[in-house]
Parts: sequence; C-alpha cells; structure tokens
Amino acid sequence: NKQNGEIGGGSRILVFVRLRPMGKKERESGSRCCVRIVNRRDVYLTEFATENDYLRLKRLRGRHFTFDASFPDSTTQLEVYSTTTAELVEAVLEGRNGSVFCYGATGAGKTYTMLGTVENPGVMVLAMKDLFNKIRQRSCDGNHVVHLSYLEVYNETVRDLLSPGRPLVLREDKQGIVAAGLTQYRAYSTDEVMALLQQGNQNRTTEPTRANETSSRSHAILQVMVEYRVKDASNNVVNRVGKLSLIDLAGSERALATDQRTLRSLEGANINKSLLALSSCINALVEGKKHIPFRNSKLTQLLKDSLGGACNTVMIANISPSNHSFGETQNTLHWADRAK
Ligand code: ADP
Ligand code: MG
Repeated sequence: NKQNGEIGGGSRILVFVRLRPMGKKERESGSRCCVRIVNRRDVYLTEFATENDYLRLKRLRGRHFTFDASFPDSTTQLEVYSTTTAELVEAVLEGRNGSVFCYGATGAGKTYTMLGTVENPGVMVLAMKDLFNKIRQRSCDGNHVVHLSYLEVYNETVRDLLSPGRPLVLREDKQGIVAAGLTQYRAYSTDEVMALLQQGNQNRTTEPTRANETSSRSHAILQVMVEYRVKDASNNVVNRVGKLSLIDLAGSERALATDQRTLRSLEGANINKSLLALSSCINALVEGKKHIPFRNSKLTQLLKDSLGGACNTVMIANISPSNHSFGETQNTLHWADRAK
C-alpha cells in the first residue's frame, strides 16, 4: 500500500532513488560505474575511487541500501513520473496537498528529473499533462481552476520565477504562509506549461562566476493549485482546493551533514539554510516528533502546508554513476535512507 499516512506516530515519506546514465565526457575521461541497482529496489555501491572512499565505506553504514523503488539509468521519464507522482496528482484532485522533492549533488540529474527537456519532459510537465487529462475526464470539468506559481529560494531570498523582480516577502494570513505578490498564472492546457517553466528556469539565480549556469544553491518550487466545487454529503456545494508542490532542490554537496554535531557546525558556516532546515523537518516528521521546525527557513515556511500530516510527501534522490562522485553518492543515499 503506497498511501501515505501516520505510521507508528511518524509520517511516512516515500523515498526513491534515480541513477542517471554516464555522460559521454565522463566515460571518455575513464569514469567507471560505482552503483548497481537490483530488482528495482536495492542499491549497491561497488567500486570506489580513493582510499578515503574506502575508509568512509567502513565508517558510514554499509554499501547496500533499499528504497520504495530504485530506478536504473534506463528508466524513462514517464516511468519515474508514474511511480513517484501520479498518485499525488490523484490526491490533489481530492483536495489534498502533496509534495515531491528532487535531492542530490549538482550534476546528479535533479533538473532533468523535474523539468526535463522538450523531447523528454520531466515530472513537472508530466504532472500537468496528467492533471489536465484527469480534469477533462470528470463530468464537472468546467468547475476546475488551475493556477501555477514558480518561485525560487536563493540565500534565504524568495523570488518569483514567472515575473522576476524584487524579492518577495513571506506573510502569514489565514490560509497560511504566502509570498506577497507572487504570480498566480491561470493555466488552461499543458502546451503552454513547458515553455513557461523553461523560461522560469532561465530566471533562476546564476552563480556570478559561472554565467549561464544555474546556481547550485537555488531551490526552484513549482506550486500547482487546483480549485473546484463539489456537492458534499448533504448536497451543499463546497469549494475544494488541492495543492501540489514540485521542488528542484539546491545541490546537496554543501550540506553533507549526517549527524547533529556536523549539522550545527555547518549551520555556523552559512551553508544552505533551507536545505538543512528541510532535513531537520523531514527527520522530525519521520521520527513522529510533535514539534516540526518549519520556521527555520524560507523553504520550510513555504512548504509548511504540504509536508507531513495528511499530506503526501515524496523524495527522489538523484545520483551519478561515476566512481569520481562516490562520496556524494554515498552521502545522498545515506541522507535518503534517513528520510524513510
Ligand atoms: P542537477 O540539476 O542535479 O545539477 P542535471 O539535471 O542538470 O543535474 O543533470 C546533469 C546532466 O546530466 C545534464 O546534462 C542532464 O541532461 C543529464 N542527465 C541527467 N539525468 C539524466 C537522465 N536520466 N537521462 C539522460 N540524461 C540525464
Ligand atoms: Mg539543476
């Protein structure tokens, strides 16, 4: 049963791993594959590049991990979408919230998984396509209103990716935390969405030293709001709203903390605050803690109504096959393992 819910006091988070194919350049420079996926579930770290990696293997827990599903490098975008996100789109049409995160080091395949390309659209676009198809199949489809927001959290500053400009201020109102002035784009079909999202992705903050390249410290959040009217049990017309958040997280290479002590020392060193805060919230949710520290970052404030409780939460950990990324891969798997 893949339905999320309260299990043993904690919230269940579905955790997936996706291995990307080896790039041409990597192969030419002699990279070897250091990851093996068996039965679409088990992940084994095989080779390592350095003596350090070997010591790390001995220190950190094992080299075998298992997840709700693990996707080998031949997995299609559609398979990833169907396994990880399709149920959340269903849930949104029942008025429930959900969120899907891509986590991993820079270059591991997060943006490919979330946004994808025109030829191979990713989770964001496939979710919109599926959503519009499902709405069309409903007898009362004229009722449904779909709005999109696309925003970025960079250095604890929130920006509108659909209408770049000044930073947005987060306010608390009766609906929860909202980014004041954020564009709510009314979407009518899938066709317009890919272009819109690609444009938005272009608007993500770039590292000053590497123009044209998206900053590895930027979190991109697509929020899809679906609003519709239904008749309740006593035949009254009621409004329902469901919200799906799809998040392309900042690169995890700067947040390698695997225990509380390193976590604190990293926080002192101006490491990505939102990524650390998300880790803390997820760990608190999984452990069934009463207090979830949503207030600690902009990212977690924005996602407060979409994480834990009755919400569906999905994590896709992206990894590179190259033995030169062994350390990053192991850290990502270890982090993902703790989110289960
Ligand atoms: P990230 O966003 O995590 O930094 P990207 O999504 O930009 O990483 O991926 C790095 C490179 O690998 C890109 O050139 C991308 O097109 C390619 N890539 C990633 N995942 C896949 C995949 N599943 N299939 C084919 N190419 C991929
Ligand atoms: Mg990226």
